Amino acid sequence: MQFNIVKISASLLLGLAALLPATAQDLRRPAQHNANHEDLLAMQKNVSSEIKLKETLDYMDGIFKEEEAPENDLYETYKNDRTVNPFRNSEVPATATIDVSEYCMPTMGYVTSPYGYRPRFRRMHKGIDLKVQIGDTIRAAFSGYVRLTNFERRGYGNYVILSHNNGFETIYGHLSKFLVKSGQYVKAGTPIALGGNTGRSTGPHLHFETRFMGYAINPAAIFDFENKTTHTDTYTFNKANYQNARDYSPKSKSSLASKSTKSTGGTYRVKSGDTLGKIAKAHGTTVAAIKRANGLKNDNISIGQRLKL
Ligand SMILES: [Zn+2]
Repeated sequence: MQFNIVKISASLLLGLAALLPATAQDLRRPAQHNANHEDLLAMQKNVSSEIKLKETLDYMDGIFKEEEAPENDLYETYKNDRTVNPFRNSEVPATATIDVSEYCMPTMGYVTSPYGYRPRFRRMHKGIDLKVQIGDTIRAAFSGYVRLTNFERRGYGNYVILSHNNGFETIYGHLSKFLVKSGQYVKAGTPIALGGNTGRSTGPHLHFETRFMGYAINPAAIFDFENKTTHTDTYTFNKANYQNARDYSPKSKSSLASKSTKSTGGTYRVKSGDTLGKIAKAHGTTVAAIKRANGLKNDNISIGQRLKL
């Protein structure tokens, strides 16, 4: 090994010597220098790539958790304030099928923090955080009335609660500016506010919640934030197991979808780019089952077509 290095250096130096004014003696590195290089390379080789991956994931997880403390549950914190939570003494039905076909994404920003339990803060994050720039337009997710525009300094900052025709309520937090007033009617897609960083927030984002009579539902169980659409045209609220949606993540998409499909026997409206295979996979069923349920003789489907699942 040592011999080879010397040999290569020697032939290289012969060539260099002809080009450079420096002598071969000046350019020759001491043997100890080469040995140091080999030690350094050997040390690098010992790093396990597996450990590196785990450390990287832990580190990223750390950053993720550092990012935002979950907002306190607004409906719980202000449960005695009927302007915030009018549902405290309401009879909540055991199940309800909610039409979500008339939807609009509140913003096109990506998910920065999902719904779910935060062990570090020992509480739930009851909404989903979406990336926005200050001043981005925030739109009504469905049609309905503006129930409240308010400010809460500890968590939500400037927030809007919309009460929708379909029975849902949606909440939008950390806003920089309101574009609507309480009592006003809005259509799905109407600009209601501008995104911001008000309240307890370390960077501009939209905190978005979906609720049914005060019960927080994971917005990702209704909306497909990746594809900017809804999973199905209806969402079935079930008081006994609504918490199943808490752990909803893209990974458990098919299992949850198949559960809700079974309980709703729901329909799906074909969207651009859909194939029977794609729809079957997304809803935890098979192409054959969809064809059977809809009396389809071949795999042809058209945009807007309603399929029984
Ligand atoms: Zn949030």
